[in-house]
Amino acid sequence: MKITEHIAQAKDTLVSFEVLPPLKGKIITSLYEHLDPLMEFKPSWINVTYHRAETMFKRRADNTFEKVEVRKRPGTVGICAAIMNYYKIDAVPHLICGGFSKRETEDALIDLNFLGIDNVLTLRGDAPKNEASFIPEPDGNFYAIDLMKQALRMNNGIYIDDDIRDGGKTNFCVGVAGYPEKHFEAPNLEIDLNYLKEKVDAGAEYIMTQMFFDNNKYFAFVDSCRKMNINVPIIPGLKPLTTKKQLSVLPRIFHVDIPTELSNSVMKCKSDAEVEKVGSEWLVQQSKELKKFGAPVLHYYTLGKSSVIRNIVKEVF
Ligand code: FAD
Repeated sequence: MKITEHIAQAKDTLVSFEVLPPLKGKIITSLYEHLDPLMEFKPSWINVTYHRAETMFKRRADNTFEKVEVRKRPGTVGICAAIMNYYKIDAVPHLICGGFSKRETEDALIDLNFLGIDNVLTLRGDAPKNEASFIPEPDGNFYAIDLMKQALRMNNGIYIDDDIRDGGKTNFCVGVAGYPEKHFEAPNLEIDLNYLKEKVDAGAEYIMTQMFFDNNKYFAFVDSCRKMNINVPIIPGLKPLTTKKQLSVLPRIFHVDIPTELSNSVMKCKSDAEVEKVGSEWLVQQSKELKKFGAPVLHYYTLGKSSVIRNIVKEVF
């Protein structure tokens, strides 16, 4: 079922989760062990992130170095199929522009269609750690909107090769990312929102947000979107703080603010177990307020912390 259908049929706020593919070398049961404790909440769907390959240098026997491309977390499409088969719930693969040619993207979308996966979250992806800015593949999509449009063209039976006549029509429901605190490369929120509107006007059916720790950022974002006639569902993405280190790591990686009240409480903690308690309590309050506000779905980034997420969701749903 499409994400938009789940939301349209819902009588109350839904819950969904996001997982990372297991590290290469782990088997699928490691993912099931992570997800099993969350199934009691009957999530409407599970998102599975996509991870581009990274360049690494491996030492050879003669002490010289070899440059290798390693994808540490492969398997997004296969994992989505496995989740749908094992739990009988929808799975939403993330697809990114980075590292993909348009033809590889087309093939991935064909695989998804054959597997009966009609949902996809289309993203640009970030630059690899060793590159200063995002550079698409020479024949790849540049922005998320380009990838999204490629999926939507396939919904109209249009494939890259123009000798494909009457191509089979796919049925993708496409979501995109939104940033209540602005995407870090955008010069200001207004310009970022203009690009978001372009994505929605071109066919994005819902927006999933970057994590935030201050609900007022989400409320203001929703308000700005509505004023600009961006009327699709805006799904808040949520994550608990669980370690003291995250006070600096999360702002650096995700470009989000930690409210003073939360950071002060975390700084007083004597252990990460205490931080987990403080972070969980904060997210419970955030979740309750978002539910009251009428957020269509609460989407939790589980990031290997399913027991923490379970305890939070138990308090909210
Ligand atoms: P875009 O929409 O392409 O925007 C990128 C930047 O370009 C923004 O600053 C925007 O303002 C600007 N822009 C947009 N369109 C145009 C245009 N037409 N012309 C000029 N400028 C433009 N990354 C992964 O690698 N894998 C994942 O699984 C993943 N999942 C994510 C899930 C969510 C919910 C979110 C919020 C992010 C996720 N990311 C993931 C990270 C994401 O790929 C990065 O934040 C990336 O830097 C931007 O992606 P985007 O889709 O928002 O890009």
